[in-house]
Amino acid sequence: MYNIKMYNIKSSKAEEFISDSEIKATMAYAHENRNNRELIKEILEKARSGKGISHREAAILLECEQPDLIEEMYDLARDIKKRFYGNRIVMFAPLYLSNHCINGCVYCPYHAKNKTIRRKKLTQEEIRDEVIALQDMGHKRLALEAGEHPLHNPIEYILESIKSIYSIKHKNGAIRRVNVNIAATTVENYRKLRDAGIGTYILFQETYNKENYEALHPSGPKKDYAYHTEAMDRAMQGGIDDVGIGVLFGLETYRYDFIGLLMHAEHLEATYGVGPHTISVPRLCMADDIDTADFKNCVPDEIFYRIVAIIRIAVPYTGMIISTRESAKSREKVLELGISQISGGSRTSVGGYVQEESEEENSAQFDLSDRRTLDEIVSWLLDLDHIPSFCTACYREGRTGDRFMSLLKNGQIANCCLPNALLTLKEYLKDYASPATREKGEAMIRRMLTTIPNEKARATATKYLDAIEEGKRDFRF
Ligand code: SAM
Repeated sequence: MYNIKMYNIKSSKAEEFISDSEIKATMAYAHENRNNRELIKEILEKARSGKGISHREAAILLECEQPDLIEEMYDLARDIKKRFYGNRIVMFAPLYLSNHCINGCVYCPYHAKNKTIRRKKLTQEEIRDEVIALQDMGHKRLALEAGEHPLHNPIEYILESIKSIYSIKHKNGAIRRVNVNIAATTVENYRKLRDAGIGTYILFQETYNKENYEALHPSGPKKDYAYHTEAMDRAMQGGIDDVGIGVLFGLETYRYDFIGLLMHAEHLEATYGVGPHTISVPRLCMADDIDTADFKNCVPDEIFYRIVAIIRIAVPYTGMIISTRESAKSREKVLELGISQISGGSRTSVGGYVQEESEEENSAQFDLSDRRTLDEIVSWLLDLDHIPSFCTACYREGRTGDRFMSLLKNGQIANCCLPNALLTLKEYLKDYASPATREKGEAMIRRMLTTIPNEKARATATKYLDAIEEGKRDFRF
């Protein structure tokens, strides 16, 4: 029996809200109950309400060996996805500002000792060019990425970059939401990011296993497990109420990190009354001097799909993100199981939107699996009956944190998010789409418009769509 008295969901200490002994006890409990049909059926029944399940319950589902119950799980994930998100998929692109980094992360090619990667930091002028290239593709939402370097990438550089990005208006283009994925920082710096108007603050835990975390981060500020794990608490204290968590699957056993991830979500919900806004599910990829063959915990596709489905069941109110680390095939599979946001047309090299790199001048963070253009992705989503959405309305209307969650919980999604998705898709079709994509998209808008339940919302959406057709932009509910 494990001693789990160290576990305290509301503690401010990493090792207490992510208690190693609670994770190990959960793993043992899940293994013991992996064929307990009655219990698994009970958990699925509870999950059907859409109110979520605990990390212990989710861990049993992950271990389940019964084919019919696994099928039931997938059906339930599809059902919850539909109920909470409809067929909308939010689009975004990463923007790499700088790959200078003083950390020693053994899985990341930005690590300080890597002498083969070309180091680069964008000037404000270069950021402008990148943002114009992104706007010309049709993007409205970015995720800023940077290595950790106090001299090259101080908080002032990040803040100045955010300001530049929001100020750039090229043709009908605009970046309306900037999410930020930078290293763990202080409450004071989080407050500055909030004041700069960021959307979500995203930070991947990489792994929740402290011992492994320390081995994977041998040097640099990131090696401090507690400082990294408590970052979201500091972000919340700094007034950022949309935070995005994730682990890098492949670093630790998926069982351990899956449980840690859900415990982290439970901690934020219990402590601040609002769970994470998003969960990302990146898998380790090949990169410059990184070989995935050196990592023994890489997650096979079948398990990965199951992880996505069970996260969807466990935390229905949390958006789920997948990047171009995944192939078109695995993206197609996880979209129906729970993913609500995907990137498209991405470049992970610094300056890559203006000039794609040759292999020799590699400055990229990881190799892309899905290299299609944004228009190809939009067209593919439409073929799969998803609505590609460029919506950023919630955060611009102040619906963040618990106010966003209450929109979801009150079932107002169909009267609010659906019209917003259609309006932003219409803008995309008018300004950026190829003729074939435009035709498919217009058909989707016509069809989905009739499904907006509230008559008044439907009439307003129709009026706005006509206005977009006439050249006006930026309507929202
Ligand atoms: N530097 C920031 C930090 O320390 O958190 C975050 C930015 S980093 C550009 C974004 C994420 O990419 C990392 O948190 C990590 O999970 C992921 N990453 C690093 N190396 C990777 C690899 N080889 N394959 C896939 N993802 C990787």
